[in-house]
Amino acid sequence: AKEDGVSDLCVSFFGAGYVGLVSSVCLADYCKKVYCLDTDKEKIASLRELQIPIYEPLLEDKLRKNYESKRLVFLSETFDLAIRDSDILFIAVGTPSRRGDGHADLSYVFSVAELIAEMLTPGYTLIVIKSTVPVGTCNKVQELMKAKVKSSKVQFDVVSNPEFLRQGSAVENFLHPDRVVVGGCGSVGSPARKRMEILYSPFVKDKGTLLFTSWEEAEMIKYAANAFLALKIQFTNEFADFCQLVNANISVVMKAIGLDERIGSHYLQPGPGFGGSCLPKDIRALVRSAQEYSCSMRLLESVIDGNEVRKRRIAQWIATLADGSCTKEDVGIPLHGHHTNSTTINVYGKRFAILGLTFKANTDDLRESPAIYVVQELLSLGALVSVYDPQVKEESVIRHFENFRGFPLNICEDTYTACKDADVTAILTEWEEFRNLDWSRLYNIV
Ligand code: NAD
Repeated sequence: AKEDGVSDLCVSFFGAGYVGLVSSVCLADYCKKVYCLDTDKEKIASLRELQIPIYEPLLEDKLRKNYESKRLVFLSETFDLAIRDSDILFIAVGTPSRRGDGHADLSYVFSVAELIAEMLTPGYTLIVIKSTVPVGTCNKVQELMKAKVKSSKVQFDVVSNPEFLRQGSAVENFLHPDRVVVGGCGSVGSPARKRMEILYSPFVKDKGTLLFTSWEEAEMIKYAANAFLALKIQFTNEFADFCQLVNANISVVMKAIGLDERIGSHYLQPGPGFGGSCLPKDIRALVRSAQEYSCSMRLLESVIDGNEVRKRRIAQWIATLADGSCTKEDVGIPLHGHHTNSTTINVYGKRFAILGLTFKANTDDLRESPAIYVVQELLSLGALVSVYDPQVKEESVIRHFENFRGFPLNICEDTYTACKDADVTAILTEWEEFRNLDWSRLYNIV
């Protein structure tokens, strides 16, 4: 009877990050109850005060409505009630790069799986791995849980359901997914499959967008999708360098190739490199796990290297604009030859304004943002740097510059304060507000 419809389902999310929070809030529109669980007590306390720790368009109203109607519950400890009550338990904790070797750190995933195994009560529960995890992880989680669960009355399945939402439009993506992938449910009519079909019924209008696969396929699909996006970005940036040298406009070139539907127009904009909490760490983890199977992914290894070079080159390029060795006429020329050695660039005491710190617009996430890298490079070269980003909080910027305490970094409240007396101003994130700047006001203050 529990599985009559989505409004009969109780679900829990372990992890109230970008994925867990957005998914919880969106599912609470339809489910009987959604528990959003996180061990970060501060995060949960602020969510209960309706203070959202992340910036994500459309999230706030939905969160308020569902929290006030008590369909959405936030917990930071004693998760046993949530586990007991839930038909589906989602694991949506972080899988960051492991220090030193680039592997995905699965310790958070495994610790949640162990906790769940200890607390499962008799009956059937579906465990869903939503975190991005290397091929083979669902299998490991199932083995680990089987070893812990002693009672035969406790029944469970582990399925893979990778998340494809994009920061900046995450709510929209969750409500209208391009596709939902579920791996490891077994045959048509299995309890796991039925439960997932019911859960996603409000979001999946066209049956073809709900794909049932094996565990391994689902895990691989997520990595393959991110790898392809990173590839497109690196491809564009490589062309951007060449285009500048031959006086061709990269945007014109990419727009034209994107009109070919086999290529598509997305992810063909040049920029300071890819960043964020997913692409860099996922490509590293993918390449590392392929190596374990003695499978070399040379194309993706070169994407990783190329992206590092891109970030460095952009930083050096911006620096040379102020050191006198690069004239205004040279501005469009990427660094080659003698300019590639940053020690030859002298920007000591020069003022730089950096507009935009996030890895893309409409998010406040600074993880692995190329703009952060650029600012760190400029500070290392002795420059004075003022930064402004429309959504990033000051404490978050400070956290990303812990190794630069005492350096002349000025965190500003608006574009015009940041640009005052600047020798060079660089826009590194495509925030809409930077398209509509008061250029004559800017001209007068720099
Ligand atoms: P995040 O770092 O924003 O959030 C993870 C949360 O998990 C944190 O709040 C942390 O406190 C919490 N947590 C850690 N251990 C816990 C535990 N034992 N119990 C409960 N909570 C715990 O991460 P995110 O960006 O939401 O990403 C989560 C996963 O989803 C990652 O694997 C990521 O690769 C993947 N993913 C992220 C995105 C994205 O755009 N951010 C998109 C698709 C997939």
